[in-house]
Amino acid sequence: MRKHIFITGGVVSSLGKGVVSASLGLLLRAGGVGVGFLKFDPYLNRDAGTMNPHQHGEVFVTEDGAETDLDLGHYERFADVTLGKRNNVTTGQIYGSVLERERRGDYGGATVQVIPHVVDAIKDAILAAGTPESDVVLVELGGTIGDIEGMPFIEAIRQFMLERGHRDAVLLHLALLPGVPAGDKGVKTKPAQHSAQKLRECGLQMDFLLCRSETPMPEEARRKLALHTNVRPERVIDVPDVQLIYDVPRHLSRQNLDRLLCDRLRLSRREADVSAWRAFAAAAASPRKVRIAVVGKYSGMADCYKSLGEALLHAAAARGSGLELGWLDAEEIEAGDINAFLAGYDGLVVPGGFGVRGAEGKMRAVRWARERKVPFLGLCYGLQCAVVEFARNVCGVRGAMSAEWDEEDRLPAGDRWITLLDNQGRSTPRGGTLRLGAQPCRLLPGSRAREAYGEDCISERHRHRYEVNPEKVEQLERNGLVVSGRHPENGLVEIVELPGDQWFVATQAHPEFKSRPLRPHPLFLAFIGAAMSGKEPAAK
Ligand code: GLN
Repeated sequence: MRKHIFITGGVVSSLGKGVVSASLGLLLRAGGVGVGFLKFDPYLNRDAGTMNPHQHGEVFVTEDGAETDLDLGHYERFADVTLGKRNNVTTGQIYGSVLERERRGDYGGATVQVIPHVVDAIKDAILAAGTPESDVVLVELGGTIGDIEGMPFIEAIRQFMLERGHRDAVLLHLALLPGVPAGDKGVKTKPAQHSAQKLRECGLQMDFLLCRSETPMPEEARRKLALHTNVRPERVIDVPDVQLIYDVPRHLSRQNLDRLLCDRLRLSRREADVSAWRAFAAAAASPRKVRIAVVGKYSGMADCYKSLGEALLHAAAARGSGLELGWLDAEEIEAGDINAFLAGYDGLVVPGGFGVRGAEGKMRAVRWARERKVPFLGLCYGLQCAVVEFARNVCGVRGAMSAEWDEEDRLPAGDRWITLLDNQGRSTPRGGTLRLGAQPCRLLPGSRAREAYGEDCISERHRHRYEVNPEKVEQLERNGLVVSGRHPENGLVEIVELPGDQWFVATQAHPEFKSRPLRPHPLFLAFIGAAMSGKEPAAK
């Protein structure tokens, strides 16, 4: 029977449950155990698609086009799995499905209630999350124990564990051990003890207590916590702050968390070999650094571009280098001295984005990279900015725009270089649904993109509404822009690049979502290679 590991959090939010769950997934997989994941988010939004990245971090897109919580990115990257819609479930989805069933008459006249109907729907979601390959499913509950909105999930976990019994389900709880700011009194265990009590009030006894703290946990604290939370001392696990999240698996395995869990669940495993992973983490921490500028709207907030930062780091590590990222605010660049902002960087990325704010600053940055032949990688909105910048400054069309920036709907059709398309593929001022999830792309033989990917036909994840206007492609090409990737069926522009020796490539897709620590993405690898070749010979 498939086993389940539940992971809850206590004391405060943002303790890194996602990274801990992902690290555990990595260790179990490395030990030959098939893992699946499920993230429960107790908010009412149906998915993360409409949520502001400032509040909630990046919207992570899956192959099947789900707009999910960024923790799914951690799971995919650490455990090297591919997840989808059923691996991120929100309160909104649960209630939505219950209400739909109620309207269909599926409940046969019963009073529809949180218990049993909502809780049953949550239990169904737990069962649906695994695949035939999953020996175990890690189920992470967002938020903190005691949150009102988390209660139906907590009740579902209680019932599920009761029904499955001790051998098939286990509960991990991650709590904060705060220090006291004034004085050296060590870490305090009381909030974690209260967290354990809160769980018990809900009918749950944790099996493992994971303790997040700034400094390593003293033995005394471990003994105290074990005694007061009803958990064996070896199952009280230390999760100290680390420089790089990729060190978390090492900390957990050193304390045998994976072995203890498998013993507890009677899962057979082999000794996990994580040497390649360790080598990667060591390379990522290398003192030699490639310097990359990211010009975006959510600058200063690495969480908004989580997968991008990770993809750059994976590629840098594969080339034996660390990474120094400069998050630059496009709006500041609009008015300021561009050279002062960008001098000293080895490469420029303009990532995804929405709306008009910052567009001019992004285009200034693209122009700077194009004219100085600095390696440039454009992602989604970044491609759109690169195309408009090229139209304005190379094709000489002053009024070139993206329809997305035309808030009053007054743009002449001829100035829409980036546009919405109607269902015949013609430029239109309105409509347009998001192009979401994996889409194929055919690459132009001999192009940089083709060289980087090493394949004729690739697939990348998308999340955008606007497209390069097909009516402008001929003019772009005539002026020297190379369309090096197209959708094989509808011919839409997927990748553009500049000819010659400059590495200047932009894609309509989000390749950052597919990069993995041990399998860096080919486009990022090529970009970082170009950025490093300006400094010294690349290691690989
Ligand atoms: N706002 C642009 C569009 O919808 C780009 C989206 C993105 O970068 N993800 O087409």
